[in-house]
Amino acid sequence: MRPTEDTYRHKGLRKKLVQGIHAKGITDDRVLDAVLEVPRHFFLDSAFDEKAYEDRAFPIGEGQTISQPYTVAYQSQLLEIKPFDKVLEIGTGSAYQAVVLAEMGVQVYTIERQKKLFESNKQFPFLKKYNSIKFFYGDGYEGLPTYAPFDKIIITAAAPEIPQKLIEQLKPGGMMVIPLGAGDLQQMLRITKLENGSLKEEMFDHFSFVPMLGGKSHES
Ligand code: SAH
Repeated sequence: MRPTEDTYRHKGLRKKLVQGIHAKGITDDRVLDAVLEVPRHFFLDSAFDEKAYEDRAFPIGEGQTISQPYTVAYQSQLLEIKPFDKVLEIGTGSAYQAVVLAEMGVQVYTIERQKKLFESNKQFPFLKKYNSIKFFYGDGYEGLPTYAPFDKIIITAAAPEIPQKLIEQLKPGGMMVIPLGAGDLQQMLRITKLENGSLKEEMFDHFSFVPMLGGKSHES
């Protein structure tokens, strides 16, 4: 069962969480405001009620996880979000990252390859208020050519290599944030497509993500 009540207690825990990620180096106010706004416990089973505000990843079924709030904030900050940006997310999972981005005033296109997770988001009433998020079931390696190009692309699973089709779907001047690496740890990479089409690559900290897998999973 998902909780539906956002109490003062939850809001207080969220405030502490935001202070924690600020202390760890997240300074973009729009990111901090969004984390403060979004009731993370709604995205988890009610058994996680208060735990939802610990800065940790948690299981969401199908062997997948809701990302750690610090990681969500870190990737969001690297994207240098501007209002009305068109953002493609690979790996919807719990939809928490998508909602954080939507709270920052952008248009989100998000893809999930696990049928069960995709279907469960369709049954999640809280998401109904976010008209600016469009959900897709598919293989993120293919991106969404019909809706391309995007201002920003965020990959929320560990990519063993840079998906070339996603680079093609990035606008000139656009940015992609991607946890790169096949092992237990990935390095956060930001790729900027310059106006002349060439790519600038910047490396950041190490994180641990679940793997980005090819194809779709049909089990439901
Ligand atoms: N952004 C999510 C993080 C979920 S974990 C959140 O906020 O909760 C990463 C997700 O990426 C998993 O749900 C996994 O199924 C999905 N994934 C892995 N490879 C994928 C691919 N090729 N295309 C789309 N989704 C993928």
